[in-house]
Amino acid sequence: MYKTILVSIDLTEDNISRLVIPHVETLARLEDAHIHFLAVLPKLSSFYGMESLPVGHYSSEKDRLQHAEAGLQQMAARFNLPDDRTHCTIAIGSPRDCILLLAEEIGADLIIVASHRPDITTYLFGSTASSVARHASTAVLVVR
Ligand code: ADP
Repeated sequence: MYKTILVSIDLTEDNISRLVIPHVETLARLEDAHIHFLAVLPKLSSFYGMESLPVGHYSSEKDRLQHAEAGLQQMAARFNLPDDRTHCTIAIGSPRDCILLLAEEIGADLIIVASHRPDITTYLFGSTASSVARHASTAVLVVR
């Protein structure tokens, strides 16, 4: 049933990502699933004109990607999962589109997202979580 699971991680949100750990570990064990972690970075062009975002933070695009890759691997290491079944992918673009695209590419039978940032109580679902749940062609687990 759940042999290939996509776990979508927002690298800017440490606490929210922790919430998904027990869910992922439990589901992964059921059928020795392959777990694909995905973190999506914004296109650099979306930073233009937004002073609060780290425009000059990285020396190059390669540096930004390497930093994200290392961050995602650190996050993945917090999950108790077999190394040979754990995969990390960094994508650039809209989180919703990248999540749905990777799910298709790997033939995911489940997508796991967190519902929203814990400090944002106004919305039941964040925009990425709700949009993935609405548009995915596979099952979606929204973790609260
Ligand atoms: P909020 O707006 O409160 O941050 P989101 O819907 O954006 O809520 O985030 C909920 C979940 O969607 C995250 O925990 C994560 O699973 C997924 N998600 C959001 N942004 C990204 C991203 N940039 N890369 C990967 N996953 C993401």
